[in-house]
Amino acid sequence: MQATRHQAIGLMLALAGSAGLGAADIHLKTRVVSPRAGIEVQQKEQPRRYTARRSHFLVQFSERPSDDVLAAFGVVITGRIPQETLVVSAPDGIPWRSLGASWVGRLEPSDKLSPALPAPEEMDEAAYLVEFHLEVEAEAREALLRDAGVERLEHPSLLSHQALVRGTPEAILRLVDWDEVAYLFPASEDLVRGEPVVGCAGAVHQDGPAGQYVKIGDGWPRPDGRALELTYTIGALAGGIPVEASLREIQRAFDAWSAAGNVTFRAGGHPAAERHIHLFFASGPHGDSYPFDGPGRVLAHTFYPAPPNPEPIAGDMHFDADENWRIGWGIDVFSVVLHELGHALGMGHSDRPGSIMYPYYRLAAGLGQDDIAGIRDLYGEPGEGPEPEPDPVPLDLRILTPAGPTITQAPSIRLEGTASGSGVTITWTNDRGGQGVASGTSAWSVAGVPLAPGANVLTVTATDDSGNRVARTVSITREAPSAPADTVRPSLAITSPGSSVVAVSGAMLTVRGLASDNVGVTRVTWENHLGSSGSATGTAIWSALVTLLPGTNRITVRAFDAAGNSAWRTLTVTRR
Ligand code: ZN
Ligand code: CA
Ligand code: ZN
Repeated sequence: MQATRHQAIGLMLALAGSAGLGAADIHLKTRVVSPRAGIEVQQKEQPRRYTARRSHFLVQFSERPSDDVLAAFGVVITGRIPQETLVVSAPDGIPWRSLGASWVGRLEPSDKLSPALPAPEEMDEAAYLVEFHLEVEAEAREALLRDAGVERLEHPSLLSHQALVRGTPEAILRLVDWDEVAYLFPASEDLVRGEPVVGCAGAVHQDGPAGQYVKIGDGWPRPDGRALELTYTIGALAGGIPVEASLREIQRAFDAWSAAGNVTFRAGGHPAAERHIHLFFASGPHGDSYPFDGPGRVLAHTFYPAPPNPEPIAGDMHFDADENWRIGWGIDVFSVVLHELGHALGMGHSDRPGSIMYPYYRLAAGLGQDDIAGIRDLYGEPGEGPEPEPDPVPLDLRILTPAGPTITQAPSIRLEGTASGSGVTITWTNDRGGQGVASGTSAWSVAGVPLAPGANVLTVTATDDSGNRVARTVSITREAPSAPADTVRPSLAITSPGSSVVAVSGAMLTVRGLASDNVGVTRVTWENHLGSSGSATGTAIWSALVTLLPGTNRITVRAFDAAGNSAWRTLTVTRR
C-alpha cells in the first residue's frame, strides 16, 4: 500500500512525565491514534515543508494555556479534532512541555490519503481534491502545487483551503508528503466538469472546524441501542418560496434520514430543549458567533450533537436567508437541508463523490449509499434494537359471575371472572370448606364451588409471578330446597265446650280443641265479634281463655299453617 513508503517521514513528538489529562483517542478516517503520555520528546525528522521553520502538529494539553500564551509562542490554532486535540501551526523548537502539552504528534502522510482513493496502481490521471491546513496562504498553496508538478484546475466554488488538481498518480500521491497538505480525496464529476456547486464549510464546533481527515465522533448518545429520538422546531423560513412548500421539503429531508437509519424525529418541544433541532433561516448576525455573509459563499451551518457541542445549541441548523432559495433547482432547500441534517445527526463530510455528505452541496434526489452506511454506522438500521421493556402489568382481579351476593338452592355455584398481571394464578376458597384452582387467567372460571347450607363466603385470589396478591370475595347463601307449595288447610275441632251454642254466667271461658295439618299448624287464634281477640296456647292441642261481654258473643277460632292456609270454627256464647 502506498501508505508504507510515507511512514518513515512521519514525525512524532511526545512528552515525559505529563499529567496526561488529555490522552483521548484521535479518530482519523485512516486510523485511531491512541496518544501515550510519558515518552521523552524525540524530534526525529522535519517533514517536507514549503514554509520555512514552521510545521503542523496535533497537540493535547493536560492544561490548556490561554490563546494569548500560544500566540506569544507563534502557535496558530488551525483546527480541532473532537474532543481533546488541537491542530496547530507552530514554529520549530516550541517548549511543548512547558506549555502544558501532554502529547504532541503529527498527521502521518498515510493519514492524509482518503480511504476512498483508488489503490495506487489503479489511479489514473483523474482529478483529486487537495485539502490544505486552514491557515496556509494562497501563495504558498499555488507555489507548492506548481513545485509538485500537478496541474491545477479552476473552479469558482472551491472551498478556500481546497484545490482541484490533476497529475500523474506518483505526483498526486507525493502531495501528502508536504506538511501544508492535510488531506487528499477524490473530486466529484460536478467539480471536474466545472458545474456550479457550493462548498460546505463543515459542521460547527465551538472550537472551530474539523478537517476532512477527521472521522467525526459517535453522534448522539442513545439509551440501550434503541432508536435515536430527536424533536425539532422550525422557525423563520426563507422568503420567496411558499411556506407550505418549504415545510414539505424540510420534512422530506427529515424523512429521508429516518428511513435510512435508526433515527426518529418528532415535531414539537421547546427550541431550547435538549436533544432538539431548532431550524431557522436568518440574515447576517443571528445570535451565535457565526454571522451569515449575504448571498453566496456560506449557505448554512449546523452544530454537531452534544457531546461535543453544548446543549441547547447542539443539533441546531441555521440557513442564510439572503440566499436565493429555490425548490428543485438552484440553491435547493431539500438538498441543503438534507446535507445539514447529516451534520445535526453527527456525520462529518464524506470523501465519496455522489454522497450527500460530500463537502460540496449539489442538487440531490436522496441519500447515497455512503450516507446510508454512515447513518447506520452511528445508529443502526431503522427499527433495530431491543423491544421496549413492557410496562409491568398491574395485577387486577374481578369476579363477574355471580355479579354480587347471591341466594341459591343449588349445591354448588359456577364462578367466572377476569384477571390481568404477569404470570397470574387464580385460586379460590370457601370459608365453609373447600378450595381449588381456577382454569384460565385473563378469563378464568371455576366450574363448581361446593356450597354448604346457609352463608358461604367465597374468596378468589390472584397471585402474580412477583408474589403480589389481589383477593375478591362474594357471599352465596344456600337455601334448603322449598317443598311443593302447601295448599292443604289445617283441620280444626273445638272439643270444649262440647256444643257450638252455650250459655255461661262468667266473663271468661276456656275453649279447648285440636288442630292438625299435613305440614304443621303454626298458630291458633280466637276472635270475639264484640271486640276482643287473642292467641291460643299450643297448636295440635290448644286452649284459649276467651273474654266475654254480656249478651251474645260469637267466637271464631282459626288454625293456620306455615303457608298461610287456615281453618275456622265458631262458637256462640251467651253471657247471662
Ligand atoms: Zn457539510
Ligand atoms: Ca451566504
Ligand atoms: Zn448560526
